[in-house]
Amino acid sequence: MGCIFCEIVEKKRPAKIIYEDELAAAFEDINPQAPVHALVVTKKHIPTSLDIREEDKSVIGHLFGIANRIAKEKSIAERGFRLVMNCNPESGQTVFHIHLHVLGGRVMHWPPG
Ligand code: AMP
Ligand code: ZN
Repeated sequence: MGCIFCEIVEKKRPAKIIYEDELAAAFEDINPQAPVHALVVTKKHIPTSLDIREEDKSVIGHLFGIANRIAKEKSIAERGFRLVMNCNPESGQTVFHIHLHVLGGRVMHWPPG
């Protein structure tokens, strides 16, 4: 079973990659829901947030640092932005390789739909 985010990480599928290091990568969402919509992913295939193990906790923290960096680079840090990680179908998760959505550049509403 192929995983589209593993394919992006392995450069087997094209994406607009905006950040990469040995543990994580970030790229533009193909169907943006806001003027800024990036996805920050672990290079390790972890299907959902329920699958985060003790040894993964530092890389999960690292995703937040990358998200903050993107927010600053895209000039949405001070205005505000939303970080989202969906888990399982009722949340709206459609790609089962964990990813942190970085959304900004417009007013976000609460509660989310
Ligand atoms: P989620 O619904 O939380 O699982 O988020 C999956 C996200 O991945 C959606 O916002 C999709 O638009 C995005 N997406 C799906 N395929 C690709 C792709 N090939 N490149 C970039 N983003 C993608
Ligand atoms: Zn994967």
